Amino acid sequence: MPDMPSVGNVMPDEFDVIIVGTGAGGGTLANTVAPSGKRVLLLERGTFLDRETDNWDPAAVFVDGRYISPDTWYDEHGKPFQPQVHYFVGGATKMYGAALYRLRPEDFGEIRHADGVSPAWPVGYDEFEPYYTKAEWLYQVHGKHGDDPTEGRWSRQYPWPAVSNEPRIQRLSDDLAAAGYHPFEAPCGIMLNEADRPRSHCIRCAWCDGYPCLVHAKADAETIAVRPVLDSPNVTLLTGAEVLSLQTDPSGRSVTGVVVALGDGIETFRGNIVVLAAGAANTAKILLRSASDTHPAGLANGSDQVGRNYMFHNSKAAVALSEEPNDTVFQKTLAINDFYLAGEGRQWPLGNIQMLGKSNAQAMRGEEPHLTKLAPHWSLEEVASHAVDFWLTTEDLPVPDNRVTLAADGRVQLSYQPTSAEEADGLYREFRKLLNHAGLAAHHVLRKNFYMKMDVPIAGVAHQAGTCRFGTDPATSVLDVNCKAHELDNLYVTDTSFFPSIGAVNPALTAMANAIRVGEHLVDRLS
Ligand SMILES: Cc1cc2nc3c(=O)[nH]c(=O)nc-3n(C[C@H](O)[C@H](O)[C@H](O)COP(=O)(O)OP(=O)(O)OC[C@H]3O[C@@H](n4cnc5c(N)ncnc54)[C@H](O)[C@@H]3O)c2cc1C
Repeated sequence: MPDMPSVGNVMPDEFDVIIVGTGAGGGTLANTVAPSGKRVLLLERGTFLDRETDNWDPAAVFVDGRYISPDTWYDEHGKPFQPQVHYFVGGATKMYGAALYRLRPEDFGEIRHADGVSPAWPVGYDEFEPYYTKAEWLYQVHGKHGDDPTEGRWSRQYPWPAVSNEPRIQRLSDDLAAAGYHPFEAPCGIMLNEADRPRSHCIRCAWCDGYPCLVHAKADAETIAVRPVLDSPNVTLLTGAEVLSLQTDPSGRSVTGVVVALGDGIETFRGNIVVLAAGAANTAKILLRSASDTHPAGLANGSDQVGRNYMFHNSKAAVALSEEPNDTVFQKTLAINDFYLAGEGRQWPLGNIQMLGKSNAQAMRGEEPHLTKLAPHWSLEEVASHAVDFWLTTEDLPVPDNRVTLAADGRVQLSYQPTSAEEADGLYREFRKLLNHAGLAAHHVLRKNFYMKMDVPIAGVAHQAGTCRFGTDPATSVLDVNCKAHELDNLYVTDTSFFPSIGAVNPALTAMANAIRVGEHLVDRLS
């Protein structure tokens, strides 16, 4: 299929807003600012992701890692690894599962954990609520507010009804409800309805979570936010444009140049406002690489907070095998937050349980190469056909030494020690109990519950966040409440870097909502 042109429109000498990165934070921001007529330049290091049959080929996606970008990062010991990052127009949302959850109101306050405290945000849930609603409508979310007992106030129902459970998952839901749990229909950002058809139409296939959508029916940042504004005369997109660093005026208060590797050369672009949305690790990298006489420790880093407090959730995939085959195709329709908060006998908040995209033999091989090395393909096929797949998420804490620094060659070095092991173990125990209550126990291949579980390694950076947290105190935060750098007048950050804590639900909707919030602020400011 033909690709979109890299350069949308004629480039002026100077832009009103330059946005670095086109994912959940950057793409959504562009979509918010574009209608104002302000001159927007989007700089994206990746290209458009090709629409090709490999999009839906588990072997290409999971075994060959076709869409994982060939970047190298280092761990804290200097050992290189390939991070599971996706540098494309749309960023990580090209591959995401489009599970678009709001944080709970409690996540905006201080929460005590076994290993420490999840700090309060500088604004409360009420500040975010209108933007969550806007993001849910922009990203065409299917869901049903009101069924999840832990959710906060909502001012408007989702634009589309929840995606219905297929029979196996509906039975799971009924069994859980009968056992006293509160399963609810998970919010999904897909274009499933008649009214969406002029754009694209979801066929409820199994290739959503972890795959690019061949028919562009997943509500990702490219299809929903970036493509629709590319025809605007005031919007220009440059792909293959890797931002290296930012330059400032002599006072160090204003960004005056965005230095970009473009083709074989280096270009410098100028804009009144510059917004970094390159993902939590790469935004920190750009700031640290922009050290100067006025910002010797890195741009906006007088507080020494840039790069610190990296989080990515304490998550695990868990597969329950039942004797009865699971012929579900679109599996991500159910979730449970009964253990999200402390209380009712739980000392600590444990987290969220949701369904994963339906597993298959190739994906199992790709995700667990060691465990599956000796297994013949037919046996993995058999296992996968009985698998019911879950994703367990526990909040990890913002620890100052969990951080992004620059390696000697200027690449990302990521130091990370997990937190919240007690809560993650607790969630896994509750999960096993829950399955016993949910009718799976009577139908086991091995006459007892059999689970495969996989913890997420350091390279699994899908949920990366932190590194430039927002706050009211310039001594302990990088950004102010509008996500403007405390130390600069025209520099903003709208990717997941701004999170002071990460909660235990998927992060993308919060990044999108915040990008709309900051985008409206920028339009006001530029007016
Ligand atoms: C497989 C997978 C499944 C996921 N499932 C879910 C889910 O179901 N629900 C959910 O909420 N979240 C999910 N996530 C996470 C979600 O996609 C991210 O939280 C979200 O996309 C983060 O938004 P961001 O703007 O911070 O970064 P991104 O969306 O990654 O955007 C960053 C952009 O910056 C670009 N960039 C990086 N460096 C530079 C540079 N130097 N110059 C120019 N451009 C640069 C990148 O190419 C990219 O386009 C998933 C992620 C993955 C990988």
